[in-house]
Amino acid sequence: MNFENKTALVTGSARGIGRVIAQSFATAGANVVISDVDQAACEKTASEIGGAAIACRADVTSADDIDQLFKTVTDKFKRIDIVVNNAGITRDGLMIRMDEKDWDTVLDINLKGAFLVTKSAARIMMKQRYGRIVNISSVVGLTGNAGQANYSASKAGLIALTKTSAKELGSRGVTVNAVAPGYIETEMTAALPEAAREFFLSKVVLGRPGTPEDVARAVLFLASDEAAYVTGQVLAIDGGMMIS
Ligand code: NAP
Repeated sequence: MNFENKTALVTGSARGIGRVIAQSFATAGANVVISDVDQAACEKTASEIGGAAIACRADVTSADDIDQLFKTVTDKFKRIDIVVNNAGITRDGLMIRMDEKDWDTVLDINLKGAFLVTKSAARIMMKQRYGRIVNISSVVGLTGNAGQANYSASKAGLIALTKTSAKELGSRGVTVNAVAPGYIETEMTAALPEAAREFFLSKVVLGRPGTPEDVARAVLFLASDEAAYVTGQVLAIDGGMMIS
């Protein structure tokens, strides 16, 4: 896929899946904006990616940060073609013991963050009459998961946000889709207890954990012109976890 002359912004892209998505867009010729909560981490990743990658710190929960982020991107590249809402965290625990703060923090970053970013992106993309938004949900947003009431609710909310934005923006040439990764090996899953890891992997039909590259390939497809007639969809990248 060729993304020359396209500008792609990936939130939470200093590391993990977001970083690999950003790297993949850069390899395919796009200008890439690395955005994360820590400026030094953004700059390090942007310099390692090289090419037309720029670093721009933004906390997705801050409307001011997001306004500034989009101003920086449009000042530099004049347009924004692709936005990937990737920033996300977990604060796991059984619901009856879950702190209200852990609920709020996860919903703020994973869901409200995507809302704020989508709102700013939509204003620009509607004027351009072109845009691709890809949201990184999760299989647990479709199935629920014990110990992840906050996280799975945020990821289910993200699927509803995907479908709603697709309906609101489709007439202006903007598509909005989601991917729902299963068990992908990153720092996020490295923190899981061994029993949880074994449980997830026992359900993977393809018999191996996913990689950030598996997710990135699907994101690039949904962001490409080849996916021009696909909107409001959720694509599971889970090695068959959902069917087992
Ligand atoms: P990760 O390695 O923890 O990376 C998440 C990134 O988001 C980090 O760089 C983090 O920054 C950043 N971030 C956190 N809070 C932020 C905020 N308020 N504003 C901007 N950036 C923020 O996680 P990952 O495994 O790559 O996950 C990426 C996405 O995929 C997440 O949405 C996750 O829910 C989703 N996902 C992952 C899996 C999996 O198996 N790994 C499965 C399904 C879905 P810090 O480093 O400073 O915290």
